[in-house]
Amino acid sequence: MRWEGNEQSDNVEDRRDEGGGGGGGFGFGGRGIGIGTVAVALIAGWIFGINPLTVLGLLSGGGGPAPQVQQQGPAHKPPADDREAAFVSTVLKNTEVVWSDIFRQSGGTYRPPKLVLFRGATPTACGTGESAMGPFYCPGDKKVYIDLGFYDTLRNQLGAPGVFAQAYVIAHEIGHHVQDELGITGKVDQMRGRLSQTQNNAVSVRVELQADCFAGVWAHHSQQSKQWLDPGDIESAMNAAQKIGDDALQRSAGRAVVPDSFTHGTSAQRQRWFSTGFKSGDLRDCDTFAARGL
Ligand SMILES: [Zn+2]
Repeated sequence: MRWEGNEQSDNVEDRRDEGGGGGGGFGFGGRGIGIGTVAVALIAGWIFGINPLTVLGLLSGGGGPAPQVQQQGPAHKPPADDREAAFVSTVLKNTEVVWSDIFRQSGGTYRPPKLVLFRGATPTACGTGESAMGPFYCPGDKKVYIDLGFYDTLRNQLGAPGVFAQAYVIAHEIGHHVQDELGITGKVDQMRGRLSQTQNNAVSVRVELQADCFAGVWAHHSQQSKQWLDPGDIESAMNAAQKIGDDALQRSAGRAVVPDSFTHGTSAQRQRWFSTGFKSGDLRDCDTFAARGL
């Protein structure tokens, strides 16, 4: 992906120098969650949850003191010479352009979200966001949160290298914001209280696969207008989708594959829905809620 030199977004908020890291790398502050819980939470809330904060809340019993999170100063932008931040900002800008066009074409207005770079832990309208959860979107404040250390995890631990795999991560989270903008998130949340755990998991899978499909829609239009992808880029995103399928994660954690516990979809499903969005670039092909087979 030839992203250098392209326009960057003004919507990146850099909180990386605001502490809350706790020094241990996981940033669990005073809540006292052991490494076992961390490992389980990593699998359960792993990567791109719409609100993985609930996962840690449940695992830690919900009680106990809240993690120490420092007060925030005024929002500021990342330094201009920070290459990784520049990459994120460039991809974010392109999602703003693409989604604004798509919304405009159907008579709507896209309100772009903020993207927060943080380390360790940071306050969000969804509770304390922590690095170990992986990147996530909080509908309460309409912000995407990412600790860029996640890209190392993606590359080195999950075996998904490639700059376009990193772009896919952002595009997936933006996909959750698009769901929010379209009113899908609100409808799903209304429904959740009436559902069993298994049914809720099934709904989560459809939410996540739709975000993958939306990421594909973005990739389609992005490539059409910028022609900035190289051979292998789409493959690197597809590989990332494969590596973070629920079945792949359960297997790599040495556990039995339990379809009822899936919250994001299998590797094959994640690849299929990204690919569906990428091929047509049409939002209407992303109705995972109406789809019989996923
Ligand atoms: Zn997600």
